[in-house]
Amino acid sequence: MTEDISSPEDDRPMKPAMWRGLRRRCPNCGEGGLMASYLKVRDRCESCGEALYHHRADDGPAYLTILVVGHLMAPLLHVAFVQFRPDPLVMAGLFTVGCVALSLYLLPRLKGLVVAIQWARRMHGFGGTA
Ligand SMILES: [Zn+2]
Repeated sequence: MTEDISSPEDDRPMKPAMWRGLRRRCPNCGEGGLMASYLKVRDRCESCGEALYHHRADDGPAYLTILVVGHLMAPLLHVAFVQFRPDPLVMAGLFTVGCVALSLYLLPRLKGLVVAIQWARRMHGFGGTA
């Protein structure tokens, strides 16, 4: 049995906000874009006007990216070496490109996730009336 941690009067449900953040959308409306550039969060949502400058994602998204990429690539490295024994230069090249590409893909999405969680839980000024 799963327990829903959000109460009925919760006006900022966690799950939809997290999905919107992962899609780099405003955690409030899901329409406006969350990012002004690759990693810069907009001050306000261009669709609903929700203030987004309160976020304090800091090193969280980078930590999560390293966590995910490391836990995916390390076993893959082992399997690739044991099963296929590719030329070391080929293997190093493939895994370098794979790690960089996956990190660049995940970093803005995980930043959106962290900002959305902070928004949903009213952290760092997100709960104010500003
Ligand atoms: Zn919005």
